[in-house]
Amino acid sequence: MRKPCSLLALAAALAALPVLAAPAGGDALSIVTDLTTDIGQRMAGTPREAAARDWAVARLKALGFAGVHVETFPIPGWQRGEEQAAITAPVPQKLAVTALGFSGATPPQGIRAELVYFPTLDALQSVPDGSLKGKVAFVDHAFVASQDGAGYGVFGQPRRIGPVIAAQKGAAALLIRSAGTGHTRDPHTGYSQQPKDGPLPSGAVSIPDAELIARLAAKGRPLTVSLTLTPRAVGTLTSGNVIADLPGRDASLPPILIACHLDSWDLGTGAIDDGAGCAIITAAALQASQSGQLARTIRLLWAGTEETGGFGGQAYAKAYAAQRHAVVIESDSGADRVYTADFAFAEADKALAERLATALARMGITRGSDQPEGGEDVGYLAAQQKTAVIDLRQDATRYFDWHHTPDDTLDKIDPAQLQQNVDAWAVVLKILGNETGPISPLKQP
Ligand code: ZN
Ligand code: ZN
Repeated sequence: MRKPCSLLALAAALAALPVLAAPAGGDALSIVTDLTTDIGQRMAGTPREAAARDWAVARLKALGFAGVHVETFPIPGWQRGEEQAAITAPVPQKLAVTALGFSGATPPQGIRAELVYFPTLDALQSVPDGSLKGKVAFVDHAFVASQDGAGYGVFGQPRRIGPVIAAQKGAAALLIRSAGTGHTRDPHTGYSQQPKDGPLPSGAVSIPDAELIARLAAKGRPLTVSLTLTPRAVGTLTSGNVIADLPGRDASLPPILIACHLDSWDLGTGAIDDGAGCAIITAAALQASQSGQLARTIRLLWAGTEETGGFGGQAYAKAYAAQRHAVVIESDSGADRVYTADFAFAEADKALAERLATALARMGITRGSDQPEGGEDVGYLAAQQKTAVIDLRQDATRYFDWHHTPDDTLDKIDPAQLQQNVDAWAVVLKILGNETGPISPLKQP
């Protein structure tokens, strides 16, 4: 009788080994499902964000993380009110509208005014100051979906700074085309800068509504609208960061900081922005350490209040200014697959970046231009300490269809793409976590 070949023997031996399963509830889909089901929307500074912190602490402890705790900080509060808009002439039509974050309020009964159409923010900028007295400025734009989501930078500007410019021009209110790409009648909210001498009523209409306004404006007939927005500033509120460690074998090695944000806008349930990010980093840390404790500590930051001004990332950078960190990575672009990676490493660590890039290339993930952005939750610390930065860039083609709208819900998450994210992150964290050599700052801070 022939002996079994050594490969078969090896396979049999491997099959007999116990498989180290991820702890129950530690996979990304369970985390984001439970967060969006048990807590739902997590608007910064609200009781729902506080409930989410409690939930996060319990979950991270149950998953075996160490030193799980909350660090609170104050934020300016803002609360959404009534939201209604309609074209009143030449063709009456209700508009789907939502207030931009920190928008001012109209009188409770609303305003009725001529609407002046601007195809771009530059067009609004070019009219004389004070020339829009008593009118509503409308800014259109042409944000088109792309894998890298680049349009959000330029076409998010009407939302970010439009209110300040519209107020300078004398407008009674600003309406913009939603800074997104989804053709539903769900408008997109988000942070806006407001004039120093008082906030301007500022809203976004859904994209089909914006396109209707553009078509009516092109006909050259006067357009009038009614608008009621009654949000209000609610003073100083408390937000907080949730921090947890996966302790490494050598406590003297500076940790790897991985971050997401726990707060969300109030319209949806914050599944893709950024429940998915918290789920990805957490599941990946567990997966990276499944076959044994890593040498280096991985620290999780589930930041509070990213959406209304990046306060969580700033609070973390301030609190941990004296503790050196080796590398920072953030997940805040939804739940679709990682397609490219960017590395900012010191010259001395180029070989480490090569090893990471090679491991990701085996998963079909390309190396980008090596100009990582870091992100709002890790960027303040990275700038302060000049840490190495990695971006695991996600396919953003679908992201801006739903981000910051009532459509940011769990059903938009594709479990297979979510797991691909976790796998990519776990590969990176395992290599970084077992790197016992120094990982240098980019420059001496
Ligand atoms: Zn986000
Ligand atoms: Zn966001």
